[in-house]
Amino acid sequence: MSVRFGIGYDSHPLEPGRPLVVGGVTIEHELGLAGHSDADVLTHAVIDALLGAAALGDIGQHFPDTDPAYAGADSIGLLEAANRLLRRAGFEPCYIDTTVVCEAPRLALHREAMRDQIAAATGLAATHVNVKFTTGEGVGFVGRQEGVAALAIASVGPAEG
Ligand code: MG
Repeated sequence: MSVRFGIGYDSHPLEPGRPLVVGGVTIEHELGLAGHSDADVLTHAVIDALLGAAALGDIGQHFPDTDPAYAGADSIGLLEAANRLLRRAGFEPCYIDTTVVCEAPRLALHREAMRDQIAAATGLAATHVNVKFTTGEGVGFVGRQEGVAALAIASVGPAEG
């Protein structure tokens, strides 16, 4: 079995009165991400990338946003569950690269904390997870600070025993 790749994309709206959770890190800000779970846009993109690489469908199939069990869910816990699904299917993650597209607040201070959360949840070394940040330069829903988007790519290989 050769190395396989998956992509993931997600976006969530920014609203007052919600926590801003990105990559498992809660960030102090007047707006937070709205959604059924904790709306952790980065972790959701990573989950879809891993599921994609293992031909396991998408996050909505495994953790439906109509299921009350996932109301307010900690998305790092969902990533751990996705990692278990992956390993049960005979795969393990090799490398994860990500981009968060967010106008404000600036998230780069939290880069290592996000990388460490994703690495711990997937059993990867921190050197095998990368988190990048960019803005919308004032353009589009990200630029107007209406929401945050995230992209991820993951490679997986055969699980070692
Ligand atoms: Mg999502």
